[in-house]
Amino acid sequence: MSVQLASQSVSQGTPTPRLGASLEELTAWVQDRGQPAYRGKQLYQWLYRQGARSLSDITVFPKRWRENAEPVDFGRSTVHHRSIAPDGTIKYLLQLADGNLVETVGMPTSKRLTVCVSSQVGCPMACDFCATGKGGFLRNLETHEIVDQVLTVQEEFDRRVSHVVFMGMGEPLLNIDNVLAALRCLNEDVGIGQRSMTVSTVGIPGRIRRLAQHKLQATLAVSLHASNQTLRERLIPSARQYPLEDLLAECREYVQITGRRLSFEYLLLAELNDRPEHAEELAKHLRGFQSHVNLIPYNPISEVDYQRPDRQRIDRFVRALEERHIAVSVRYSKGLDVDAACGQLRASKNKEEFFRHSSPLTREDSFLSAESRL
Ligand code: SAH
Repeated sequence: MSVQLASQSVSQGTPTPRLGASLEELTAWVQDRGQPAYRGKQLYQWLYRQGARSLSDITVFPKRWRENAEPVDFGRSTVHHRSIAPDGTIKYLLQLADGNLVETVGMPTSKRLTVCVSSQVGCPMACDFCATGKGGFLRNLETHEIVDQVLTVQEEFDRRVSHVVFMGMGEPLLNIDNVLAALRCLNEDVGIGQRSMTVSTVGIPGRIRRLAQHKLQATLAVSLHASNQTLRERLIPSARQYPLEDLLAECREYVQITGRRLSFEYLLLAELNDRPEHAEELAKHLRGFQSHVNLIPYNPISEVDYQRPDRQRIDRFVRALEERHIAVSVRYSKGLDVDAACGQLRASKNKEEFFRHSSPLTREDSFLSAESRL
């Protein structure tokens, strides 16, 4: 994977050590400070395996150097809040160095530990069914802030993370450089297989092509949610600038360039897009497409009154796709009972604190997808 490391703050010619840095960069950094190269390897081990939070945590480093070196903080987050569901899913609110909060979810099964990561604080896409979209956008996450979420869950569960899905807050392709750098690091430095990582996008013109050119082996999931342009525009405002036909054409290019099948996510909203004629229309678009459809029954958020379809309607939609030879599965949420299905943990926590401390929190809502294939 040919990925450029995102720019980081530079000190004496080499970037300050942060999650996201490669072994070569860390080695260059210690050598710049007159230390032998093997200290780079130690720094790498402590950063990625031992959970070091600052240079002073690295007890194998000579005490004198640790005390005299410039203070280096690796930029780790702190756990601000945890919500634990009976199925073992844990939703975290992580506090970043600048005080912002992001949601991250750890979803364990006997064989897997999946982390759902955020790529932005908030999201500018404003999809009508999504709580994050209702709360506006603050900023992109830095590479280290994305990698940190995975390491935090790994440390919290005391177990290796096996899978990562970019399905938390934010639109990953609007933060493509940092997301690519995080994917590189998670793969090469943290040791998670590229094919065990999924990037989910609503589609940003030209960006799916850019991912394809990187020959990403991660899975691409495209949030389609509608079987025609009119319906899609109603749910996803950005669709106005990116017609369904163009999005699908770019997806076809992706499959051609990478040779990888992609997933289409389709949110099921009762009556609105879950009728047999919608399935038929969807199937027409996807005929012959190397793809898989993931149906997501809508998880209610408080701001809008869309309805989640019942089991019968979901099954009817599945059958209608299957009859047309479209590969399909249904994704039910994990951790449904903590702070609503799609998290809204940050929303509820922010509100709580808003009232308790009258803190000038800028945002109240967020979406967190604690989705996972069951
Ligand atoms: N911006 C990316 C990642 C967003 S979250 C994207 O759009 O793909 C991951 C998935 O959860 C997306 O498919 C998103 O549309 C979906 N989602 C958002 N709100 C939801 C809700 N209330 N119920 C169910 N799924 C939702």
